[in-house]
Amino acid sequence: MNILLLGSGGREHALAWKMADSPLIERFYCAPGNTGIAQEAECVPLELTDHAAIVAFCREHGIDLVVVGPEAPLCAGVVDDLEAAGIKAFGPSRAAAQLEGSKGFTKDLCRANAIPTAAYARFKDAKAAKAYIRSHGAPIVVKADGLAAGKGVIVAQSEAEAEAAVDMMFSGGLGEAGGEVVVEEFLDGEEASFFALCDGETAIPLATAQDHKRAFDGDKGPNTGGMGAYSPAANIDAAMSGRIMSEIIAPTMRAMKAMSAPYKGVLYAGLMITSQGPKLIEYNARFGDPETQVLMPRLMSDLVPALLAACDGMLKSFDLRWYEMPALTVVMAAKGYPGHYTRGTVIEGLDQAAAVEGVEIFHAGTKAEGGRILANGGRVLNISATGKTVREAQARAYAAIARIRWPEGFYRRDIGWRAVQRESRV
Ligand code: AMP
Repeated sequence: MNILLLGSGGREHALAWKMADSPLIERFYCAPGNTGIAQEAECVPLELTDHAAIVAFCREHGIDLVVVGPEAPLCAGVVDDLEAAGIKAFGPSRAAAQLEGSKGFTKDLCRANAIPTAAYARFKDAKAAKAYIRSHGAPIVVKADGLAAGKGVIVAQSEAEAEAAVDMMFSGGLGEAGGEVVVEEFLDGEEASFFALCDGETAIPLATAQDHKRAFDGDKGPNTGGMGAYSPAANIDAAMSGRIMSEIIAPTMRAMKAMSAPYKGVLYAGLMITSQGPKLIEYNARFGDPETQVLMPRLMSDLVPALLAACDGMLKSFDLRWYEMPALTVVMAAKGYPGHYTRGTVIEGLDQAAAVEGVEIFHAGTKAEGGRILANGGRVLNISATGKTVREAQARAYAAIARIRWPEGFYRRDIGWRAVQRESRV
């Protein structure tokens, strides 16, 4: 079959790397793709906002399945437009992608279905939001309702900080995303990411991960799209996974179906594991980045039939197999990220780095020019490694990084610290 993958990040490189192994694929395209993806698929320069051009490409090239990586095209309805044209697409419809696209929608769904989450209220004006903040006190969390590329959440340690966040959002600091604001209870616990594959009716658990959102070591510095991750999450055992499926994922699936917006695709739950059990922080309507860069190396089964089964409503009788071994990924970013950074700096040593045992390098913002690899974005490379333990995977990833010559890049040196600490206690 012929497949088109949409996206250009490290997540899509990891998906492409895994899918390219499938004996089911005849022609494999990626739009727009990147330098790393070009080793697995033919990259085509389509704009992801131009749904008509994507449909036309699919018709011209006999595409049997489109796999959508990022959230923006999902929330813009690319799956609806492809399906209307009779083309099979992996990912939620626009209505179902509201689980990521609107925090208020998800919070209301949780409340109506008794899904455990932080107590909250929604606001369309600053005065009422501030009154709520003062009546609840700090710490408290202020969130823009819409998609804000990871910048829409302020965990405020004081009422003044929370009120400033409200002012920033309502004065247009985050554009349209901040037109409505959710203020919610601060949850105490340890976070984890949980991924489920869904076909509208049935959800099956994929795997778990923990990521590192802050830019610098010791979880310091500004929030980023993610500086590293490892899988599985040490705080989710089989019993906890069962609770997450029955208390959070399954009722969400039932609610979405009842709303005539059945959820198909990957449902990525950001969770806080609290002393009372798992609570939903947020949903994402797609695979995580950089979590996919640790999930794919652990997946033993062919990914393509799983994606097809999700599209076709056939997950009930489906099973996926995983390697027990952990995987860890370290993000290399351009100095200055998530703020201002420069592009076009030269990266060397990638082949030597990839030769370290257990290591796979997934590209995000890179560009090939004149036989050289140049940095072309904020998050630039993902150095993923597997190992018998998280400690071994970590040692391999950092051994690979030591072979990469890129003075204008930086990375965290403590990815996986929690899991390594846990391992040394056992
Ligand atoms: P989100 O984009 O909703 O995942 O939020 C980004 C980060 O903010 C999360 O990964 C958490 O670290 C933190 N966060 C969000 N909501 C809460 C909450 N209610 N309590 C504590 N931390 C939170």
